Amino acid sequence: MSEGVAAFMEQIKAKNPAEPEFHQAVEEVVESLWPVLEKRPEYRKAKILERICEPERVIVFRVPWVDDKGVMQVNRGFRIEMNSAIGPYKGGLRFHPSVNLGILKFLAFEQVFKNSLTTLPMGGGKGGSDFDPKGKSDNEVMRFCQSFMTELYRHIGPNTDVPAGDIGVGGREIGFMFGQYKRLRNEFTGVLTGKGLNWGGSLIRPEATGYGAVYFAAEMVGTRSETLEGKVALVSGSGNVAQFTCEKLLDLGAKPVTLSDSGGYVYDEDGIDRGKLAYVMDLKNVKRGRIKEYVEKYPHAKYTPVDPKLQHNPLWDHKADCAFPSATQNEINAQDAENLIKNGVYVVSEGANMPTTPDGVELFLEKKILYGPGKAANAGGVATSGLEMSQNSLRLSWTREEVDQRLHGIMKAIHKAAYEAAEEFGTPGNYVNGANIAGFLKVADAMMDQGAV
Ligand code: NDP
Repeated sequence: MSEGVAAFMEQIKAKNPAEPEFHQAVEEVVESLWPVLEKRPEYRKAKILERICEPERVIVFRVPWVDDKGVMQVNRGFRIEMNSAIGPYKGGLRFHPSVNLGILKFLAFEQVFKNSLTTLPMGGGKGGSDFDPKGKSDNEVMRFCQSFMTELYRHIGPNTDVPAGDIGVGGREIGFMFGQYKRLRNEFTGVLTGKGLNWGGSLIRPEATGYGAVYFAAEMVGTRSETLEGKVALVSGSGNVAQFTCEKLLDLGAKPVTLSDSGGYVYDEDGIDRGKLAYVMDLKNVKRGRIKEYVEKYPHAKYTPVDPKLQHNPLWDHKADCAFPSATQNEINAQDAENLIKNGVYVVSEGANMPTTPDGVELFLEKKILYGPGKAANAGGVATSGLEMSQNSLRLSWTREEVDQRLHGIMKAIHKAAYEAAEEFGTPGNYVNGANIAGFLKVADAMMDQGAV
C-alpha cells in the first residue's frame, strides 16, 4: 500500500470506527484510484475522494411492530443516501440480522460506482434493517414492512431515492412496502423497483442480477475466444441471484453443480438441471425451506452442513471451471481462493457484493484468472431497476426480449468500460481497477461540475 493510501485510510478508520466492511470497500477503491488522482490533481484539490467517502445523508430509525403472539418487537431501520451526483439515490434494502451501519455504508459506497458503470443516471444508496424475515409469518413480515415504510416514506420518492430489494427483500416485501408508501402519500409512483408485473414492475428484473453475472462471465471468457458452453460452475447461495445465475448458465450450456444457504451446501455432480432448479425455486420462494431438503428429493446429491470450526468453505473445493459467489460478503477467503485455483477454476464472476476478501482478490489478480468484481459483474440488477424506472416514467412496459436485450447490451458495455479503463491505466486484465476507475470518473466529473455540495 502506498503512503498516500495508508494516510487516507487512517483518516477513514478514525472517522468511521468499528466499520470493517466499509474500510475494506474504501481501501480497495482508493488503491485503484490513487494513480488517477496523481494524474488529476484537481480531484485532490476539490477533495473528491474525501467527499465520495462521506454519505450525503444517513437516516437511522426505530421500527416497532407486533408479532403474531401480540408481543412488541423493535428493530433498527437504516437508509444511507451516499451520492446523488449523477441521479437519484438508488440501491437495495437488506433485511438480515447481520445488518449494521458499516455493512450498509460499504454497500452504498460500492453502489455509487456500480450505478455509474451501468451508463444510467442513478446515484448510490443502500438501506435495510436487522429484521430477519426467516421463520416469520406473512402477516408478521407485512406488519414489519408497513412500520419500516411509515418512517422511510418521508425520505424517498421517484426523483429523490428509489430503493429496491437485496438479501431478505424480494417481491413479497417490496409489495408490502409499496402498498404502505402509496397509502401514506396517496400517490402511485415508481418509488421502489422490483415491483409486481401488474403494478409497475419490469419483466426480467427478478432475473437480472443472475443473468447479468453470467453475461459478464461470457464477456470475460470471450476475451480468450471461449464460451461458457460445457463449463462446470460452482454457485453459492440459493436466493434470487443464485437461482437466475443457474438459469442463465443452463441457457448457455454450462453445468451448475452447487447451491447453498446459511445452513450448508449441496453438491450435485450430475448438474442442477432445469427440473431440479424448478424444485429449488419452489422450495426457496414458495415453501421458504432449507437447501438441505434438496438431497431428500435428489438423494444422489451430497449435503454438507456449515462447520463453524473450518477456516474455509468446502463448497469452493470441487473441480470446476467457473465460480459464481451469490450469497453474501466475504464468503471466499484466501484459502478458498487457493482451493478454487487448485481445482481448475479460472473464471470468477461475483453475483454477491464483495464476496471475496482482499487477500482472496489479490490471489485472483496475481494468478491472472478472469475475475469480475461484484461492482461490475452484478450491476445487471440495478441496471434493470433503472430500466424499470424508465418504463414507470414513460407509463409503458417493454417486452421480455426488449428488456433482456437492453440488459445484455449494458453488461457488454460495463465489461468494455472496465476492460478498457484497466488497459488505459496500465493494468490490463485487472477488472477491479478498471471498474473502480471507470465508475469513479463519471461521478467525480459530475461532482466537480456541481461545486461544493
Ligand atoms: P436472497 O435473500 O434472495 O438470497 C441470499 C442467499 O444467500 C440465501 O441463500 C441465503 O441463505 C444466503 N446467505 C445470506 N447471508 C448469508 C450468510 N451470512 N452466510 C451464508 N449464506 C448467506 O438475496 P439475493 O440473492 O438478492 O442477494 C445475494 C447477494 O447478491 C447479496 O450479496 C446481494 O447484496 C447481492 N446482490 C443482489 C442483487 C439483487 O438484485 N437481488 C443485486 C446486486 C447484488 P439463508 O436463506 O440461509 O440466509
